[in-house]
Amino acid sequence: MDFSFSPEEESFRTEIRSFLDSHLPNDWNDRDTIGDEGAEDGSLARTITKGLADKKWLAMAWSKENGGLDATHVQQMIYNEETTYARMPGGGGMGVAWVGPALILYGTDEQKEQYLPKITNGDDIWCTLYSEPGAGSDLASLQTRAVRDGDEWIINGSKIWTSGGHYANMGWLAARTDPSAPKHRGISTFVMPMDAPGVSVRPLPNLAGEHGFNEIFFEDVRIPGDSLVGVENRGWYQVATALDFERSGVGAYANGKRSVEKLVSAARDEESLVQQNPTARYELADRWIEVQVGFNVAYRIPFLQSQGIIPNHEASVSKLYGSELSQRIAGTGMHLLGSISQLRPGSPYAKLGGAFAQQYMTAVSSTVAAGTSEVQRNIIAQRGLGLPRG
Ligand SMILES: Cc1cc2nc3c(=O)[nH]c(=O)nc-3n(C[C@H](O)[C@H](O)[C@H](O)COP(=O)(O)OP(=O)(O)OC[C@H]3O[C@@H](n4cnc5c(N)ncnc54)[C@H](O)[C@@H]3O)c2cc1C
Repeated sequence: MDFSFSPEEESFRTEIRSFLDSHLPNDWNDRDTIGDEGAEDGSLARTITKGLADKKWLAMAWSKENGGLDATHVQQMIYNEETTYARMPGGGGMGVAWVGPALILYGTDEQKEQYLPKITNGDDIWCTLYSEPGAGSDLASLQTRAVRDGDEWIINGSKIWTSGGHYANMGWLAARTDPSAPKHRGISTFVMPMDAPGVSVRPLPNLAGEHGFNEIFFEDVRIPGDSLVGVENRGWYQVATALDFERSGVGAYANGKRSVEKLVSAARDEESLVQQNPTARYELADRWIEVQVGFNVAYRIPFLQSQGIIPNHEASVSKLYGSELSQRIAGTGMHLLGSISQLRPGSPYAKLGGAFAQQYMTAVSSTVAAGTSEVQRNIIAQRGLGLPRG
């Protein structure tokens, strides 16, 4: 079995690295942060996004007809890996990752013409409007209503945990269009301008004090009739496909690799860390192995796509393993750095800039976002192993 990348793929990886080197500040790699570059004002993200759009790299795996480069899915994953590892600000976000691919599969020609170019040139920022207070794992129970009124749809209801809802200008919405049908068969998907009258956004800070997600309220929001994407009342199946796109990322492994490298380098520089915590060496060795395993799990997805197979339970395997690994890595960081690891960013005494205190708290939600670990295990048990429902 050949696990190596082709010479073209390797040279593509080099090209991305040199793009990143030339666009990121010189000291970027030495900064003691791990996740997003939250401290930047957004201008670097905008410059980088435009630079990527000019090279047609934002949605490189899309067809040329849709504004991409016809790049292979493996190339797309190499791009995702390198840009995540480098903590690159900006990029195509949800628009490129799953809204665009869903529009390509289910949208009308007019919708593709209207929305795809603004995704591939980085102008539109999308958020995902699925979860509700009473509908998370059991998403098909969602209650937000879309009612047809002449040439328009009227939307009423609310969404929760909407990542980036405070800066997105477009939303990918799932709403109930037929309340009398069985719950999976009465849902449709819509494109929702986030500045439509009647849409309001309330911030929801997370446990680490960061503002990433929001509550969104819809009060008699009117959107044009042609905002419906795909076939009315078949939205559940479109959402399920879009979720598979969402779960097949390499981000957890690229971030994990960077974090483990930071810890290894701290342990080499300061021997007392390992002397005080001898088992931390074993933990680091385990995390390093798990990151390597994770990359293989992740790259299996584009390999299947290259064979014309839409990954399903395979995407859940990658999502489950990656999100649980990110929690183990954060735990190893806390263990290795000792009690001082609890100091947050901003403290002059914090080690590695307090990044692991932050990561330890934010990693809690990784096994909830995009479907909980229990939901992923159910999918793997049923669709991967053919086990009966529990
Ligand atoms: C960081 C983050 C970002 C998010 N971003 C978005 C976003 O942008 N847009 C969006 O729409 N949503 C978003 N979400 C919401 C996310 O999709 C939901 O939180 C998730 O689907 C779980 O739903 P819930 O919170 O309602 O929990 P629940 O579904 O109420 O689950 C509660 C517990 O019950 C367990 N459980 C539920 N059903 C089963 C079952 N059948 N078998 C076994 N156990 C079960 C769950 O595993 C969990 O432990 C985000 C969440 C997080 C944490």
